[in-house]
Amino acid sequence: MSCLFCKIVAKEIPADILYEDDTVVAFRDLNPQAPNHLLVIPKQHIATINELTDADTATVGRLSLAAATIAKQLGFADSGYRTVMNCNQDGGQTVYHLHLHLLGGKAMGWPPYSATLKTAIN
Ligand code: AMP
Ligand code: ZN
Repeated sequence: MSCLFCKIVAKEIPADILYEDDTVVAFRDLNPQAPNHLLVIPKQHIATINELTDADTATVGRLSLAAATIAKQLGFADSGYRTVMNCNQDGGQTVYHLHLHLLGGKAMGWPPYSATLKTAIN
């Protein structure tokens, strides 16, 4: 097994796990971009959003449900937070095991691309 996040699921490499159930695991991101930055991942290996099938709909729902549960537990559900799934190169995906970023504890900016990139698109 070469996938980093599969190794975290299997407890072969350490992670700061805050939540786990039969379908998902959530742990703190090593390089946090907010006061609370967690990754919520399915235990099953799915590389990207593009590989999802109808059989995965419940699993994807559990990712969002776990994110809301954690946000409530950590106390930032009411003030607000952001969940993000990056896909492939333009989305900024670097680990090819599906994951939902949960970012909370400070106000987020929008949009998530730079003025330079926006100019290039236009
Ligand atoms: P993405 O760029 O959307 O694929 O997100 C991958 C995230 O995984 C990045 O935010 C990394 O900081 C994070 N990351 C990489 N390796 C680890 C690890 N061993 N434990 C926790 N987070 C990690
Ligand atoms: Zn994996």
